Amino acid sequence: MKIKAAVVREKSGQFKMEEIELDEPRGDEVLVRLKGCGICHTDLVARDQQQPAPLPAVFGHEGSGVVEKVGDRVSKVKPGDPVVLTYLSCGVCSSCKKGTPAYCSDFLKVNFSAERSDGSPTMHKNGETIHGVFFGQSSFATHALAMERNVVKVRRDVPLEVLGPLGCGFQTGAGGVINALKPGPGSSIAVFGAGSVGMSAILGAVVCGCTPIIAVDVKSNRLKIAQEFGATHTINSDQTDPITEIKKITGPGVNYSLECVGIPKVLRQAVEALATTGVCGLIGVAPVGTEVTLDMHSILNGRSVRGIVQGDSVPDIFIPQLIELYKQGRFPFDRMIEFYPLDQINQAAEDSEKGKVLKAVLRP
Ligand SMILES: [Zn+2]
Ligand SMILES: [Zn+2]
Repeated sequence: MKIKAAVVREKSGQFKMEEIELDEPRGDEVLVRLKGCGICHTDLVARDQQQPAPLPAVFGHEGSGVVEKVGDRVSKVKPGDPVVLTYLSCGVCSSCKKGTPAYCSDFLKVNFSAERSDGSPTMHKNGETIHGVFFGQSSFATHALAMERNVVKVRRDVPLEVLGPLGCGFQTGAGGVINALKPGPGSSIAVFGAGSVGMSAILGAVVCGCTPIIAVDVKSNRLKIAQEFGATHTINSDQTDPITEIKKITGPGVNYSLECVGIPKVLRQAVEALATTGVCGLIGVAPVGTEVTLDMHSILNGRSVRGIVQGDSVPDIFIPQLIELYKQGRFPFDRMIEFYPLDQINQAAEDSEKGKVLKAVLRP
């Protein structure tokens, strides 16, 4: 079928709206008419080829929409069902079998290889291959071909166009707290980085009953928003030393900290801000090979550092839970969203990179 998609043809190039051909769904595939797709940092990293992904390609991995057609082996959803698209996992490695698909041993391969597992492409233009299957979806388009494994069926009584970012950014932040750190009520937490992931983590900390909830960032406008989202304290780490400030607030340091920016200096701060036996969660993605120095003594007193991918989420379980919390007014993630028409994707990407918007969502 013919679809419209935002195609990237060269490293760091513009997104160009093009009419291309998308295959019909095969066996375990699901064709989705998209209602919205968030822009995530990883899309821009792939566009700029800091994370290798073959070009020309259609990126986008926070799609939501309505199922149009399904392959003959699909039983999870049927045409007309509202769905959120999320990351793909292989389903057969030991991590997937254990119920921890975010740590799939083929995570990079299935999400970045830009082809089906049998090596065939899903998108074409006049005989030329356009690489799709990005995170099992390629959702910067009017339609996406997903796999049964990475579609999540959701309730009908929520606006579908706001739900896409639950499939990556929002579940990453909220799940980092709710699923991975699992702080008990009254635990103290510091969230380093108040972008959309950090902001989702703050919302998750509110759900868990954390206090104090300390937001650390270098942008005062973001810290103001963090307060609206439930941060009890904010620290501008450009103007003051966050560790000193955190100890002023908490005494011994925080029980939990979360690094959401992927910068070695910030990870070190997030570890040093911990009280003894505290846990630092690492969510921020740094380039492969990035090293960090830590005072070994600071780890010795029962502290730990824990890497977290996709908020430890099992999306079929966690995304409906987040939507339930949203319906109750306890996870108001839609306040982070600014909508753009799909053909304004370059503007949306620029506004995201400049920090003008927390979460841009494209509507076809
Ligand atoms: Zn993402
Ligand atoms: Zn796997």
